[in-house]
Amino acid sequence: MYNPSVSGGSANTLAGSRLFVYEVEGLCQNSETDQANYPIRQSGSTYITVPYSRMNQEMQRITRLGGRILSIRPVESSVNGSAQVTAESQAASKSSKSMTQAQPEAKKKKSDIPVNIYKPKQPFMAKVIANDPLVREGGIGIVQHIILDLTGSEYRYLEGQSAGIIPEGTDEKGKPHKLRLYSIASTRHGDLMDDKTVSLCVRQLEYNHPETGEKVYGVCSSYLCGLEKGAEVQVTGPVGKEMLLPDDEDATIIMMATGTGIAPFRAYLQRMFDEKERQANPDYQFRGFAWLIFGIPVTPNILYKEELESVQAQYPDNFRLTYALSREQKNAEGGKMYIQNRVAEQADELWKLIQEPKTHTYICGLKGMEDGIDAALAAAAEKNGVNWEEFRKQMKKDGRWHVETY
Ligand code: FAD
Repeated sequence: MYNPSVSGGSANTLAGSRLFVYEVEGLCQNSETDQANYPIRQSGSTYITVPYSRMNQEMQRITRLGGRILSIRPVESSVNGSAQVTAESQAASKSSKSMTQAQPEAKKKKSDIPVNIYKPKQPFMAKVIANDPLVREGGIGIVQHIILDLTGSEYRYLEGQSAGIIPEGTDEKGKPHKLRLYSIASTRHGDLMDDKTVSLCVRQLEYNHPETGEKVYGVCSSYLCGLEKGAEVQVTGPVGKEMLLPDDEDATIIMMATGTGIAPFRAYLQRMFDEKERQANPDYQFRGFAWLIFGIPVTPNILYKEELESVQAQYPDNFRLTYALSREQKNAEGGKMYIQNRVAEQADELWKLIQEPKTHTYICGLKGMEDGIDAALAAAAEKNGVNWEEFRKQMKKDGRWHVETY
């Protein structure tokens, strides 16, 4: 299995044999720092060049020796072989806090989780940077990827949290609309990697009125899907502690999504596998195993298809992608292939993984998807003499079972 922290291993597949310069303060000259060959200076910061493959170890050693990392910059080898900081990385270090500051990412102590920085009474006015369709030709309905600019706000969030949106206008009683929640589809650094945006994946709610048969469109989802670039939106939050990713870089992450339930998983996968993310988070270098089971009606509705398939192609040992295409594929009984049918098909393998303490299981998407998945896993557990209900409860207590459906 791919392991980026092993020097000389297959790390090249992710970051290559790149070098990084750590700017460190607080180190004192002693036998250990001498042994480590750290060029301690009498005053100011010390600069230490570290190969990508040793970033974690060096970070731990520096911390152990009392040093504090002030910044990290990628280095490019010049023609004569000496290391130099690129203009691009210098610019990045000026403009982007996340690219340069190497404070260890928050270990998820409750107090470290940002919650309700912006409350419904005082939302932040974000600007729409992008509003792009995710459903391709021949697909069903409207789903948009929306990037909101948070410049000037205190807003920050973690992967797995949700943002609140207050749509413009008033409800039928003339009162301002209530906020709706949307899972955040970007990592904490945002799609532009500048810690200044948040992305959402929004499906326009559309249904036939059960009595009149009239087409009804959801208030907030229609508002969001129809926003033009440059429009302003009231954003609250972030909220949610249920769907956070564990800090464990060796974890197994099982993700089951239907429709826009993919949103938090897109953020997880970027955090785990995207090269820019990995450079920005030297203390989170995922080397575990992630498995996404994604239920969607037809191929053109596979949200973020290219991104997902690119991760699978690049990291086949670390990421498995399984689709359940209900209107295109058939289950074992010849019926539609819903996510629960796919889970049932893979239940023995899933059950094996789920029992391992390092495995976290996440379910996100349509209300109602949980029961079928539960039944499929219960069958596998009970085949092995385990009471699934109790086992699941224990997983929940251990913080390994995460569900967000709506
Ligand atoms: P509204 O105008 O509020 O209409 C919704 C109401 O319409 C329902 O309450 C119900 O009364 C009625 N209704 C809906 N469907 C039918 C039907 N078939 N038949 C009859 N009546 C019906 N949505 C996303 O698109 N992406 C996300 O990432 C996302 N994440 C979420 C995360 C969380 C934690 C939660 C709680 C919800 C999330 N949602 C997400 C759902 C989102 O919050 C809104 O509920 C959704 O967009 C609909 O809001 P609306 O204002 O458009 O619809």
